[in-house]
Amino acid sequence: MNFPCTGCGACCRALPAASALNRGDGVCRHHDAVTQRCTIYAERPLICRVDDLYRERLAGQVTRRVYYLLQAQACVALDASNSGMPLEMARQLVMEEGTALSPVDPDSDLEAMASLPPEEAAQGLEQVMTAVQPLL
Ligand code: SF4
Ligand code: SF4
Repeated sequence: MNFPCTGCGACCRALPAASALNRGDGVCRHHDAVTQRCTIYAERPLICRVDDLYRERLAGQVTRRVYYLLQAQACVALDASNSGMPLEMARQLVMEEGTALSPVDPDSDLEAMASLPPEEAAQGLEQVMTAVQPLL
C-alpha cells in the first residue's frame, strides 16, 4: 500500500503540543513555509511515514482498511482539498486484495468501503494512538 499523500503539508502545521517536532505553534520545525514541504523528507521520523508506521508498529493490531481510512479521514479534516482520499484508499484496497465489486454498481461498493462505522473508527483510533504515543 502506498498512501496517496497529496503533500498539502497540513499535518506538518497541526502537531500536538507534546510533539518534539513542534516548534511551539503547532508547526513542525522542519516544515518549509514557502514550499509546504518537509526539509528532512528522506530522514523524517517514523511517525511521519504513513506506510512504514503501519508495517512497523500497527500491522496485526489494526486492519489495513481501518488504519488507512483513519489516516485519510484525518487528511480530509485537516485540508478539505484531500476529500477524494478515502475513496482512493478504498480503490487501492480493492485492487490489492482482489475484492470483487458489484458489477451493477461498483461505485456504491467503493463508497461503503470508504466509510468507517463510528464504533470501528473509535476502536481503531484508540489502538493507533496507543501505538504512536511513544513516538510523539
Ligand atoms: S495532511 Fe495528509 S495529504 Fe496532507 S501532507 Fe499530511 S499526510 Fe499528506
Ligand atoms: S518532520 Fe517533515 S514530515 Fe514530519 S511533521 Fe515535520 S515537516 Fe512534516
